[in-house]
Amino acid sequence: MIEKLVRKNILKLKPYTSARDSYLEGILLDANENSLGSVVRDEHNLEFNRYPDPAQTKLRKKLASYLGVSTTKLFFGVGSDEIIDLLIRIFCDPKKDSVVIPQPTYGMYQVACDINNIKVITVPLNKYFQVNAAITLNAVQKNTKMIFLCSPNNPTGNLLSKNNVLQIVKKFKGIVVIDEAYIEFSEGNSFISELMKYKNIVITRTFSKAWGLAGLRCGYSIADEFITSLLFKIKAPYNLNKLTAHAVLEALSKVKQKDKFVSKLNSEREKLIAELGKIKEVQKILTTDANFITFRIRNATDIFTKLATEGIIIRNRSNQLNLENCLRVSIGTTQENKKFIEKLKEIL
Ligand code: PMP
Repeated sequence: MIEKLVRKNILKLKPYTSARDSYLEGILLDANENSLGSVVRDEHNLEFNRYPDPAQTKLRKKLASYLGVSTTKLFFGVGSDEIIDLLIRIFCDPKKDSVVIPQPTYGMYQVACDINNIKVITVPLNKYFQVNAAITLNAVQKNTKMIFLCSPNNPTGNLLSKNNVLQIVKKFKGIVVIDEAYIEFSEGNSFISELMKYKNIVITRTFSKAWGLAGLRCGYSIADEFITSLLFKIKAPYNLNKLTAHAVLEALSKVKQKDKFVSKLNSEREKLIAELGKIKEVQKILTTDANFITFRIRNATDIFTKLATEGIIIRNRSNQLNLENCLRVSIGTTQENKKFIEKLKEIL
């Protein structure tokens, strides 16, 4: 069934075979690397002069044991942004196929579709920013290949109702991408447990948020083996660089540190919600399960600009559907959050 959804040229594609597909060790004279070494100091002995492992073997093994899923379901990308783009390119034929995106949500789904010349069908999330299964499924057209869902959703912060999402997964004949970039900040509710049952789910996650590695660019997907094999088939041969792979392996052996970050950020989030709640000009604070808070305030754009002048940079989300006068603030350090509240009060 999934095979039918894949672009014909991708099914037929004979992928590039890289030198490191076959051999990772030995007297390596196969990849036109510089055998003498690297001009840069290689502190961790990673052999910068050699290409990285295209099969991402160590990373997949380590992540598989952390998540309790099979290695064959895991794929690493240069941020989850790369995976979003690759998925569109696997399933969507330019100028022919379409994608459904409930709004407001993360802007890159639309941009990645636009870059690939894929029609986007927009549907609204409901007034609690929950996905409405009937409305979403109704928007599906003959050539709709994918639906993008984000849970917790950016920029609203809420988890999507499992029931509603599963109704879509069950009835939709295409791929449902569930973006769990912020899942670590919420209490469970991941869709990983549903992967066994539903082959059309692709979960994307990232090391950019809870793990604190945004600068390294690493995300991953958890999906059916066949979809995962297609991601490997079309990716750039050496998409993940050695420094990133090294740091991510280290990160996966420091799960406790990640958990500490999460609980600190979550308790800061609750403090910030309480502080915002005391400000009478704040009209609404959206329910959040992520490391940010979106709130409605009169003259949001003006406040956003004034905060920026004071060196406090938050995000103006007022232009997104049903987010008039809404600002999004990421949870910072205790000190940063205090400063943000102080300046906000000063401005008002
Ligand atoms: N998905 C969502 C919902 C996001 O908010 C972001 C980053 N802002 C991403 C994906 C991209 O993450 P990455 O750094 O892994 O590309």
